[in-house]
Amino acid sequence: MNEPKMICCVCGFQQAEGVFSSRIAPVSCAYCKSCSEKGAEPYDVLVTRVAHLMLLQPGYELSPRLEHVKQVTLEISGITEEKFLKDVEIRRTDLSGN
Ligand SMILES: [Zn+2]
Repeated sequence: MNEPKMICCVCGFQQAEGVFSSRIAPVSCAYCKSCSEKGAEPYDVLVTRVAHLMLLQPGYELSPRLEHVKQVTLEISGITEEKFLKDVEIRRTDLSGN
């Protein structure tokens, strides 16, 4: 057996179970069991998703489901809420082309 080892896109260190569709964006990523069970998403995917929603809907507030994804993702990635909001703002500016 010579299975290729894939690293989880969310935590970046555990071996992934496989590649699955993201629950929040039309992309596929490798998830390990623990991140998948918690419902976490790759940080970058989350930032882009939230930035996109804010762009479409000014004053957008995260749905309870997305809020949960955000909480677990930030926890696993070790990223603060403050840094997350900054990254969303940067991404939003990129997306809007300004
Ligand atoms: Zn993981």
